[in-house]
Amino acid sequence: MRDVIPAPDVPRVPVRGGGTFPVRRIYCVGRNFADHAREMGAAAPVSPETRGTPVFFMKPADAIVTGPDVPYASATHDLHHEVELVVAIGHDAPAGVLSTANATDLIFGYGIGLDLTRRDLQAAAKAKGLPWDIAKGFDASAPIGELVPAGQVDAASLPTRLLSLAVNGTVRQQAPLGDMIWNVADILHELSRLYRLRAGDLVFMGTPAGVAALVPGDVCRAELEGVALLNCRITSAVV
Ligand code: MN
Repeated sequence: MRDVIPAPDVPRVPVRGGGTFPVRRIYCVGRNFADHAREMGAAAPVSPETRGTPVFFMKPADAIVTGPDVPYASATHDLHHEVELVVAIGHDAPAGVLSTANATDLIFGYGIGLDLTRRDLQAAAKAKGLPWDIAKGFDASAPIGELVPAGQVDAASLPTRLLSLAVNGTVRQQAPLGDMIWNVADILHELSRLYRLRAGDLVFMGTPAGVAALVPGDVCRAELEGVALLNCRITSAVV
């Protein structure tokens, strides 16, 4: 049977050293840094014994933006940056729940992204006990830098590496990845209880404190120290 409309393009992320990574789904983790949970007014799950389960939400795959220009979102007056480690899944997971020991075998590589958030709409949704979708899963809400293959990254060093975001040259967010309440293996294990991970999936791992508003003209430089980089500029273009 023929398609009755043109098949949509698959969003793709450039890979360091060549090639592109086709994106299937985008999972995101909420409240993975205690200081950010507190700044959002949530109780911080601080210890492995009391942390419970992570907060997950999703963005559509075509929320990805790989160009340096990122259009300011519609329907918000409070577009916030959240700098995050992004984990790219390179293999389909086997059926069932992944152990933390096996989960990291699925990783293709790492990158840096911004989980852009319509904070005003999120606050309104939270106040009414409504879902976060319109605050999180909108067009151009996931700027991302090039992916770095896992073979080029010393995974054991990740906890001590700084995740940071500077806006117009001023650092706004900065924390070592070791501050994450759930590490990468923990998150992939928890996701596998809910979804079967697939090659092409991206996981945004959560943001440290310091989230704040962006305006058109702002220049962002996000970095995972010594590993991955994202440079982008917020524009007033209509999405
Ligand atoms: Mn986030």
